[in-house]
Amino acid sequence: MSLDGFSVDLGGTKTAVAQIENGVVTRRLQQPTDAGAALADQLTAIETLLAEAGYRHGEPLGVAVAGRVDREGNWHAVNKTTLSAISAAPLGAELAARFGARTKAVNDAAAAAWAEAQLGAGQGTFNFAYLTVSTGIGGGLVLGGRLIESANGLAGHVGFVSSPLGETICGSGRFGTVESVAGGRGIAAAANLPDARAVFESGAHDAIIDRSARAVATLIADLTTILGLDRVAIGGSIGLAPGYLARVATHLSQEPDLFQPALVAATLGHDSGLIGALLMAQQAGREAPFR
Ligand code: ADP
Repeated sequence: MSLDGFSVDLGGTKTAVAQIENGVVTRRLQQPTDAGAALADQLTAIETLLAEAGYRHGEPLGVAVAGRVDREGNWHAVNKTTLSAISAAPLGAELAARFGARTKAVNDAAAAAWAEAQLGAGQGTFNFAYLTVSTGIGGGLVLGGRLIESANGLAGHVGFVSSPLGETICGSGRFGTVESVAGGRGIAAAANLPDARAVFESGAHDAIIDRSARAVATLIADLTTILGLDRVAIGGSIGLAPGYLARVATHLSQEPDLFQPALVAATLGHDSGLIGALLMAQQAGREAPFR
């Protein structure tokens, strides 16, 4: 397929800029995100990286971000612990002013879901969900071939569904979310270690990792009840950590058959958000954007 252009992944910890040729990331430049910086300064940093990567003003540019992007292109934190400084930031308008009209800002997990549905683990499905288990839990839903979006940009934020295992208030303000139990921040807090990677590497916190996998399995069964999912793909640094997917599968197998969709690993890895954002930028403005 012909998918050529540039994308940005603006995450809480790192900012990546990529050149994409024929649907494949051929060049990637990356630097730590200055999370406390104002939007204009973050965009200036992105502009510099893009210039270095060979981007020229006016070319299609997809921008994937954590948090929600509403229909007007305004960017908002959902979990205030992850993105404390972001509140109704006019990302869409700023991108258009700096880089031209062929830009689109989208939620990173929604972009990843769309990329997986088109080019990765979701191909050939009717109702597909992508879940990323990383610092938080992100998601995207592709139903009947359409990415589910909403005016407020919240659709697909499945990490904020409540979990029967939840015990704490999450940065979203909701009590006991799947993200608070299963996300990297929740895992690290439960083990009293600096981050989830340290929890995995310690080898001493099996119960905490298993609890995360169990919460994700319940979420998958719940989503399947509502949406009739036929396949779910798991991504993210924790989701793809050795042994994690098998744990989710074990817990999911405890559910009645009807509530068990096919469970697979995401196949586009860390590139899915970048690829999906460019796909969406290219498709933006067309009459039927998600067909
Ligand atoms: P991103 O959210 O962009 O994927 P990172 O890859 O840095 O960012 O990691 C996000 C979360 O995944 C953090 O909670 C981190 O501790 C955890 N993590 C990263 N690498 C691993 C790993 N190899 N095994 C388990 N957890 C990991």
